[in-house]
Amino acid sequence: MNTSWAGQLAGFLRILRDTGLTHLPGTQKTPLEDLLQEVESCTNCRLAKTVTNKVFGQGPIPSLVMLVGEGPGREEDMTGLPFVGRSGQLLDRILAAVELTRQDVYIGNVIKCRPPNNRNPLPDEMEHCMPFIRKQIDLVGPKFVVTMGAVAARSILGIQGALHSMRGKFYLVDGRYYMVTYHPAALLRNERYKRPAWEDWKMLRAAMNRYKADGTLPVADKINILI
Ligand code: SF4
Repeated sequence: MNTSWAGQLAGFLRILRDTGLTHLPGTQKTPLEDLLQEVESCTNCRLAKTVTNKVFGQGPIPSLVMLVGEGPGREEDMTGLPFVGRSGQLLDRILAAVELTRQDVYIGNVIKCRPPNNRNPLPDEMEHCMPFIRKQIDLVGPKFVVTMGAVAARSILGIQGALHSMRGKFYLVDGRYYMVTYHPAALLRNERYKRPAWEDWKMLRAAMNRYKADGTLPVADKINILI
């Protein structure tokens, strides 16, 4: 499965939906394809009325590392793909610096539809969309999850505070190791976030390499998410 799979499948499913079909006769959908179908047909919040393309996510299944951003921006809404445009280019450079590529990681968002004018998602929109990303994380099955930006960290991990106070460590939730870092768009806006962000990504690289070498997992704060 390559990284364009989800984008191509999303487009294909839109065509099927428009023709009244949900999958090809004689084929069985995977749980992730079922989830994609559910997202594509979701009208649970007001963002369904203004979205151009829902952005489900993209990457290999299973994946050792999953990245979770806040939600689609303008380019993502236009293409249906996660992290395109300037933020996506910066993300590609960050990944290369820690010896990863898009082919190695699964990328998704907390919110699947773009909020108008890139405003923050409203609490009820988050509440309606959160079950999708939680299920998606389970289906992708990463050992390491990187939340990018404060909105993603707070909603996924249920922790509060400024981003700088949440970063710099791993959180252990249901056997997965979560790390909080800045969203690439924040790095483009503010140079001073670049150094701490680089420390975060180096922390991930070291943890990943130790895990791959001998299965050692990082020290982490164990938290329970109440949902
Ligand atoms: S943002 Fe999520 S909950 Fe709202 S319509 Fe889109 S997929 Fe459904």
